[in-house]
Amino acid sequence: MIPFVDLVRQHASIKTELMRAVEQIVDNGRFILGDEGAALERELAAVCGVAHGIGVGSGTDALRLALTAVGVSPGDEVITPAFSFVASSTTIVMAGATPVFVDIEPDTFALDPALVERAITPRTRAIVPVHLYGHPAPMDRIMALARAHRLAVVEDAAQAVGGSWQGRPVGAWGDAACLSFYPTKNLGACGDGGMVVTGQEEVATRLRRLRHHGDSGRYRHVELGTCSRLDEIQAAMLRVKLRRLEAWTETRRRIAARYRTVMAGLPLTLPVERPGARHVWHLFTVRHHQRDALAKALADLGVGTSVHYPIAVPDQPLFSATGRQWPEASRAAREVLSLPCFPEMSEGEIEEVGAAVRAACERIDG
Ligand SMILES: *Cc1c(COP(=O)(O)O)cnc(C)c1O
Repeated sequence: MIPFVDLVRQHASIKTELMRAVEQIVDNGRFILGDEGAALERELAAVCGVAHGIGVGSGTDALRLALTAVGVSPGDEVITPAFSFVASSTTIVMAGATPVFVDIEPDTFALDPALVERAITPRTRAIVPVHLYGHPAPMDRIMALARAHRLAVVEDAAQAVGGSWQGRPVGAWGDAACLSFYPTKNLGACGDGGMVVTGQEEVATRLRRLRHHGDSGRYRHVELGTCSRLDEIQAAMLRVKLRRLEAWTETRRRIAARYRTVMAGLPLTLPVERPGARHVWHLFTVRHHQRDALAKALADLGVGTSVHYPIAVPDQPLFSATGRQWPEASRAAREVLSLPCFPEMSEGEIEEVGAAVRAACERIDG
């Protein structure tokens, strides 16, 4: 059986260093807002090409606090893709605003800039582009629209740390960008964690306050904040992994390149890397008109798969938005299937997945 993802293998390869990092924090006794978190903030801000990083409790908190920090408030509308993980939209509601769902481009699954323009109203305050699966959204066009209409941009970079668009890192385009350290992400903690990166000093200052009870220093609370910090143990473990991130990303890119070669010509739609994009392949997601049959055939052949995501966001029971259509988002929800794509896969496993996908396609068509 080839698992869809295997964190045990990742941790086995670096266990001594991870445990040493944990031990160091236990020994020094500083667990919240210490040197490891500050160092990780500096290191990830540098990866994203900006000046500031603010560690928080999750990617979800990163998004909702960043939206508030860039000025989103009750009554505002925020444009977000109709196809993503649900937190890209629920965090807009948490910030008091209304998500306005816009359909996606079918090849990259990113916000379609032409449709973004049509969705802008006098109440629109911000745009949340998502770099889904690790492929960057077309940030040049999204930023041009945002500037023309004076909108804030918060990048959902939860799946895309290390990626870039037109040579500029994911995270360096918007007013702020959000990272998730959910364990299966490309840079995953051993628990929950997240970070906002931003080039803007005022946004960074506001976020440091929001994550810590609205405290401007010395128990002086100037606004309603929350309690959402990235703890020192997670930060120390993440720093061990961050040293490998670039090598892991290169391995993901090699796996994706190999898959695209061996699966070329099969009756399924392969994921693309647009010219100008550096895709970090958080997920290698194919499309097939009989997705469920393909997943079943692959399971029978011993290959684990997963569906990201089976329901378009506005079609979720939580939203059940009516009146408008998101044809590409709805079609993606019916067709997508993610294949194993993690740096610890063996060469043999990569070839086996390729062979299994070929056999599964034949089985479905035959
Ligand atoms: C994982 C993820 C989030 C949320 O991150 P958590 O750390 O799980 O809260 C938000 N958006 C996208 C696109 C994600 O993949």
